[in-house]
Amino acid sequence: MKIIKTLLVIFIVSFISIFLTCGKQQTAFEATNIIMGTIVSQRIYGDNSNAAATEATEKIRSLEGRLSFFKPESEISRLNSSAGRTKIKLSPDTFFILSKSIEYSHLSGGMFNIMVGPLVKRWKVTGDNPVIPSPSEVRSLVALINYRDLILNKNELTARLSKKGQKVDLGGIAKGFAADEVLKIYRKHGIKSAIIDIGGNVSVLGYKPDGSPWAIGIQDPSKKRGNYICSIMLNNKSLSTSGAYERFFEKDGKVYHHIIDPTTGYPSKSDLQSVTIIGESSVDTDALSTATFILGLEKGLSLIKKTECEAVFITVDNKIHATEKLKNMIDCDASIEFHSKKK
Ligand code: ADP
Ligand code: MG
Repeated sequence: MKIIKTLLVIFIVSFISIFLTCGKQQTAFEATNIIMGTIVSQRIYGDNSNAAATEATEKIRSLEGRLSFFKPESEISRLNSSAGRTKIKLSPDTFFILSKSIEYSHLSGGMFNIMVGPLVKRWKVTGDNPVIPSPSEVRSLVALINYRDLILNKNELTARLSKKGQKVDLGGIAKGFAADEVLKIYRKHGIKSAIIDIGGNVSVLGYKPDGSPWAIGIQDPSKKRGNYICSIMLNNKSLSTSGAYERFFEKDGKVYHHIIDPTTGYPSKSDLQSVTIIGESSVDTDALSTATFILGLEKGLSLIKKTECEAVFITVDNKIHATEKLKNMIDCDASIEFHSKKK
């Protein structure tokens, strides 16, 4: 199904859920749900794993209810429909995500830009009958994209969009935020070993029960889903992938994907097929994967150098580039060109 961004990632471990660790049996609790328009899968080890998974699922559903671009009652829909008129009171989670989004707009020179809402709505890449808008329509919608028109008030926890017709869309950051929240819930339940995947935003807590790191696969963009070009060994980290190969439609031999270049209003064009960002928190890796995908290899690498994150780029000519720190953590089918993050 097109609306569903399926897993970019699987656990390279088998799906046998019983482990023997230090003579003690560890049972994995697994849950898979469709929330936020994508597949959410959880695997949790240890006591309380069932309760932790249930609370995590509830949290993601509650976030979807507040952050959705489509649900008319969400805080985001109310903000969008009040554009050019009134401010809207937000929950702390929503306010935090909007603040983070603005931070990443600044950092990426406006490429990460949640104000792309009117274009996302018009392109309807993930809808049933996407229609290519006329160039003049695209131009008129691009004129509405300006992240400085999203006015936040920290004391009041309110937000306002300056002009009628403006819309924010959190599709490039909300799933990452949700993954961070899920890890907080796991920790609260005393969980030491778990993995959550929200549509390609993967976060791992601790090590696997056998003490080894989690092996996360990166989808080969030119092969069928489930074929991995690299695997990365991680513990206590988040990983997000953005690419043009999962959510798109084709018309007259041209591919139109779901990541919009805010300067043109069209699906972004760069030398990348996908980019994977690895970092401490998923809200950051999610926003950065979307931004670097638009920027392309060279500018994307410059952006990553300004952060604490690491990256794997797969170019349109099937070359793999990665930041140097990943050297001992990454294993790929093809050769990798490593890049130092030093300026
Ligand atoms: P996915 O949602 O498929 O995991 P991304 O994290 O890269 O992929 O986010 C893409 C989504 O972000 C789009 O579907 C859209 O909702 C939104 N989006 C599109 N273009 C931009 C942009 N330039 N900046 C921020 N968000 C964007
Ligand atoms: Mg993203």
